[in-house]
Amino acid sequence: MEAQRSKGYIFKTVVVGDGAVGKTSLVMQFTEQKFNTQYIMTIGSNFALKLIPSDVLSTDMKEYPDVRLQLWDLAGQPHFKAVRHPFYKGSSGIIFVFDVTRPDTLEHLAGWREEILKQVKPSTPSILIGNKIDLKNDRKVTAEQAQKVAKTFNCAGYFETSAKDGININAGFQTLARKIIDFLEKENKL
Ligand code: GDP
Ligand code: MG
Repeated sequence: MEAQRSKGYIFKTVVVGDGAVGKTSLVMQFTEQKFNTQYIMTIGSNFALKLIPSDVLSTDMKEYPDVRLQLWDLAGQPHFKAVRHPFYKGSSGIIFVFDVTRPDTLEHLAGWREEILKQVKPSTPSILIGNKIDLKNDRKVTAEQAQKVAKTFNCAGYFETSAKDGININAGFQTLARKIIDFLEKENKL
């Protein structure tokens, strides 16, 4: 256990939500601190690995191991639905993403959740991200509305981000990493 603890853990995490909400941009900003204004449609899935070191995760209350999030950024286009199912399998965490300027992208997350819950347990740790908060004048979803959804989904938290400006990206991913560790410890699966 100690040897394993010092090596840390890798967890598969799926990033889901409608097309163009900013999934690929969030993962790129988180893993490479880069942003691309050009819209590159994701075909199939992207794949990225990010180490969150023990000293970043640890709090006064608890020491956490190194966690590597293996981020699967799925294609959001409906016609790729057939290829999505295998990607959910074996996920330890879920990141739901919507665009704060498009209320329908928040509404559609219930459908995304339903699809995932055919492959993973409802208790799987998750977070909700409202992205594109830099577009202040176009904003149409309030934090309160999003928090309600996060509560319904039993998410570990709701985070407002800008993948463009690199705002608040780390907080959500770190919360999810802690939640996955806490959850697996509780289930005696670490
Ligand atoms: P995905 O389809 O969910 O992976 O979305 P992308 O990451 O490809 O982003 C879709 C479009 O939204 C691209 O043109 C991005 O440049 C843009 N975008 C992503 N995140 C943000 C953000 O936080 N703010 C703004 N203004 N644009 C964003
Ligand atoms: Mg994408």
